Amino acid sequence: MAFYREIRSAGDVSGFVEGCGREVERLGSALGGWPIEAVRLGGHKKPAVIIKAGSHASEIAGVHAALTLVEEGIDTDNEVWIIPCGDPFGFDGYRRALEHAAGRPVQLENDTECLAELERLGRRFYNEEHFALFDVNGIVFCWADQERFDARSLFYGRMDTLARQDPRLAGEIAGKRIFYPNAVYYGGEGQGPFDHGGLVSLVSPLGWVNNMNGFFDRCFAPPEIASVRAFCERLRPGLALDLHESCINTRIAASVIASGESIGDNFLILPPVHAPRFEEVETPVAEAMLEGTRQAGHECFSRSHLEASWGYDETEYFPGYVRRDSRGASSFFKWVVLFADASIVVEPRMDRPCADRVKIHTAAVRAGIARYTGLTGGGR
Ligand SMILES: [Zn+2]
Repeated sequence: MAFYREIRSAGDVSGFVEGCGREVERLGSALGGWPIEAVRLGGHKKPAVIIKAGSHASEIAGVHAALTLVEEGIDTDNEVWIIPCGDPFGFDGYRRALEHAAGRPVQLENDTECLAELERLGRRFYNEEHFALFDVNGIVFCWADQERFDARSLFYGRMDTLARQDPRLAGEIAGKRIFYPNAVYYGGEGQGPFDHGGLVSLVSPLGWVNNMNGFFDRCFAPPEIASVRAFCERLRPGLALDLHESCINTRIAASVIASGESIGDNFLILPPVHAPRFEEVETPVAEAMLEGTRQAGHECFSRSHLEASWGYDETEYFPGYVRRDSRGASSFFKWVVLFADASIVVEPRMDRPCADRVKIHTAAVRAGIARYTGLTGGGR
């Protein structure tokens, strides 16, 4: 359970996977040459289960949970495949991405050093009062005055807004990845803004901006997405579990920190479109995952808190989970319902210690798979 201290780079992840002693399939290559890998667990019965983690690189607990499951195994007769790290280049973080782009080590202890390195290594093409954008050999790096500006707001929507308003900016960033300093509010576990768990946007060829998980329904999906799509098309998983983390928005986060209040929103997200068997499969699996989370000692969301932090006013709610109704089939959990009877996202709160988030993920996954195995009885 101490992975969060030991696994701090893409190299650590692939080193662990390759040394785990289980069957490993290399699905493709990510930016930076890192492998996208799937590890096989469980038995031989179909339908298969797929577990994906690390799709949003800043959400590191899912990666640690996936590796914990790889190490400990999962007790089921169904075939299980785990993709522990969906975006290894992003997981590696800002500093290593800049080193990759620059072809040499960089010094990034603070914003001043960061600016000096970016001025040396790249071309500044965009300025605002408290941040600037630099192109370093085709990868975009955001510099921010982090005392005055939370660069995470760019990742959470503002960069897309800016690009839609400014064709010159859209042209500069089109087709590229953008790294932001990741000022994690929470955790207190020594994760700095340039460390592993990077905050990364991907930009479409037309200049619209989304996160790495937002390209599953796109023909120009990056290799990290295309390789997982091809794997799922072969595997045809019956159950898909996607390990994320709930990053409470900045406004709420600041007030929560100030008050020390708990707002209790570990929760699940279910897709808006679902397979015909969702009522007999998806709902009971989700209920089992919530119960597994509770039995592991963690509370699940309340509707009012979820509305306050996420603004899901147009969404259908169930006790403990939410069925999102937005934005097409862009992300994995929505796309994978082409095959799966059930597709469920796990969202522990990011302000909890990493070990707790890992525990929530592993408890929910084990409970969900146990229920699914019981429901499918080795066939469908
Ligand atoms: Zn996420």
